[in-house]
Amino acid sequence: MRVPDSQRLGDVGEGWKVSLTTLMNERLAIGQGAGVDYSELLKLARDTDLENGPAIKDSNVREKLADWYVQTQGLKYTKFRTLTALSKGQVPGAESSIGKIVSGPKMQDLASFAMDMQGQGGIMQDVEESPMAGAFQNQWIGAAGYRIAGGTDEILRNIVSEQVLGLPQDIRVDKTVPFNELASSKKS
Ligand SMILES: Cc1cc2nc3c(=O)[nH]c(=O)nc-3n(C[C@H](O)[C@H](O)[C@H](O)COP(=O)(O)OP(=O)(O)OC[C@H]3O[C@@H](n4cnc5c(N)ncnc54)[C@H](O)[C@@H]3O)c2cc1C
Repeated sequence: MRVPDSQRLGDVGEGWKVSLTTLMNERLAIGQGAGVDYSELLKLARDTDLENGPAIKDSNVREKLADWYVQTQGLKYTKFRTLTALSKGQVPGAESSIGKIVSGPKMQDLASFAMDMQGQGGIMQDVEESPMAGAFQNQWIGAAGYRIAGGTDEILRNIVSEQVLGLPQDIRVDKTVPFNELASSKKS
């Protein structure tokens, strides 16, 4: 099937830009995080008793809560930078990749910590019995996929290191070669 030229997005030869815009849109959406976050963990800490007293009074729990509060605020203000750029008609920069690198591991670590805090009950994923209907357990199972889908942690680190921090680029011998001229695209 041929796609008519009237359906083309962007200029000829600029297809990669269109693909990158689509990928960045997905990264931004995933980078917003989902499910349980800092405020739910704070509630769990207030509702949970550890061997040495209420979890909210435990210095290890408080330190973790403080870390995730800072990360949550950082994500919020990075998102505002993106929204500001969009509201001015600008294309958000590679710094938007930061959101997913931070939020993916945060979802996983926060859920894991919440399950630890629940003691032996943490291994149970039960809508009736588990705190917040097993939301932390559900998140822990799904969070690993967030670190792969829409660009893995490693790929996003490459983007931030090369395009935001200006570190030396990965060696790419085919960077300037059009896709249809790549050795793997040529028919023998
Ligand atoms: C929950 C989930 C949902 C998904 N949904 C969709 C979807 O809706 N649509 C879709 O098209 N795809 C989807 N995917 C696929 C996803 O986009 C790919 O799995 C992802 O982009 C990684 O590609 P890959 O699996 O080919 O891994 P590879 O690219 O083969 O990477 C393998 C490993 O090598 C590392 N690696 C690769 N290249 C480099 C490099 N240059 N530098 C450093 N490390 C590197 C990666 O980080 C990874 O750890 C989904 C995946 C998951 C887990």
